[in-house]
Amino acid sequence: MSSQSDSDTPTRTAIRDRHRETAAAVLPEHTDLYVGGEFVTPDAGGTFDTVDPTTGEVLASVARGRESDVDRAVDAAWDAFEKTWSGYSAGRRQRVLTTIADTIEEHTDELARLETLDNGKPVSEAKIDVRGAAEQFRYFAGIVRENPGETMTAGSRYGQVVSEPYGVVGQIIPWNFPLLMASWKLAPALAAGNCTVLKPAEQTPLSALRLAELIDDIVPTGVVNVVTGYGEEAGSALTSNPDVRKLAFTGSTAVGKQVMKSAADSVTDVTLELGGKSPVVVFPDVSVRKAVALVESAIFYNTGECCEAGSRLFVHDDVADEVLDGLIAAVEDTTIGDPLDEATDLGPKVSREQVERTTDYLDSAREQGGQFLVGGDRPDDEHLADGCFVEPTLIEGLAHDADAVQAEIFGPVLTVFRWDDYDEMIDLANDVDYGLAGGVITDDITRANRTARDIEAGYVWINSYHDLVPGLPFGGYKQSGIGRELSADTLDHYRQTKTINLSLR
Ligand code: NAD
Repeated sequence: MSSQSDSDTPTRTAIRDRHRETAAAVLPEHTDLYVGGEFVTPDAGGTFDTVDPTTGEVLASVARGRESDVDRAVDAAWDAFEKTWSGYSAGRRQRVLTTIADTIEEHTDELARLETLDNGKPVSEAKIDVRGAAEQFRYFAGIVRENPGETMTAGSRYGQVVSEPYGVVGQIIPWNFPLLMASWKLAPALAAGNCTVLKPAEQTPLSALRLAELIDDIVPTGVVNVVTGYGEEAGSALTSNPDVRKLAFTGSTAVGKQVMKSAADSVTDVTLELGGKSPVVVFPDVSVRKAVALVESAIFYNTGECCEAGSRLFVHDDVADEVLDGLIAAVEDTTIGDPLDEATDLGPKVSREQVERTTDYLDSAREQGGQFLVGGDRPDDEHLADGCFVEPTLIEGLAHDADAVQAEIFGPVLTVFRWDDYDEMIDLANDVDYGLAGGVITDDITRANRTARDIEAGYVWINSYHDLVPGLPFGGYKQSGIGRELSADTLDHYRQTKTINLSLR
């Protein structure tokens, strides 16, 4: 692992210097709460640090929003809804969304580097996130006018069915794709005509704050509010605020359950995009090269910190040895390093806490009889010593009910199973609490379709992975969530239906 030749490898000091320089160039100017179109300090004061996971250095101290700050932001959002946003036509909202998309694109390089500093993802992948974020705004700008409503006559009645925005929505996002998740939330909410209070993850608040700076002149005052802070403080205050009419949450299943319980008190509608433990099924007819490339990307993209990561491999006996040899070779060829370097394949995990979470699962896999085909540790290279790095890892030989197989590790760890009986394989593939995604790799279209139908998940890729196309709904079965993002259905999650029944007598 780490294919950089020794002479190319930057020293610890060089990495730190480069990160400091980049931070000086791209950090947002404001690290306060963005409420009512202004950057304001929290009522009770206070900050928390966001740390660069590559160097361990503090990037910025960010405002620690709490309940009264959330209340303020919700009030500002209602004010904006009543005074301006509810009066905007769909065409005007479309222009706003398109301008946001253009602005994000214009700042691609800067936003990508900021995301890399705060999250640790390779800058090449961060650029894909930024382009995806712009694409979200463009997609919802495109469909914003599609709200025809319905009319019907029935005897002496004339009925109109119209969709109306909720007014103010609360949106909570995770740290793995900070800017992308912000755009998945903001774009449909604004398109549907809502104002919003967004709470970014405490590990990665910076790109949402920079986005707030960038859209300040584009979006009317108070339409978008950003309250940074801890989940148990700002997050839970948002989920229990009775003036928030709709909650949209992306994060872990454990917290998603709490959000749902909290929303029950005020019977607030909730959509949840939660965790996953997705199977990837390899059939024997497929080219080994293709299978290796797809499986590698399914698990190791974004350092394994993907809700849809293909983290359980089911490879047919006939090709298992070849596919696993290919994967081991691919892992050995992976460049682990400074994520600001375009040549880096795998960056650090987002935080020390997440490193511990992953290494605890590696320990449990060892105790429960897992054989480590490659990886399984933290890299011992001197130049990576400051960062939250974990080796890409393949584990075989675990029982399917082992902890590392059942739990979402959210790291670069693939558990491997060989199969020859299709029905037994599918039973195992579905034998987890999650149902977010899955992958099928075969050139036989009938098999591919049958397997895609048999996998209990909201999204199944055939011969690709991770590529999410606006327009195709994304969301989970089982404990992976409720609701769909990325598609026209999403607008419906941000609107409520009103029937107007007019008597013609
Ligand atoms: P998390 O659940 O710990 O935190 C997510 C967000 O919830 C953060 O902003 C956090 O501050 C907030 N939060 C924490 N406790 C809260 C509480 N009591 N009330 C309200 N908000 C609270 O998740 P994470 O570790 O940031 O992200 C990783 C998880 O996100 C993984 O499980 C991953 O699968 C999931 N995820 C899902 C999708 C999807 O589309 N399904 C996409 C990305 C990430």
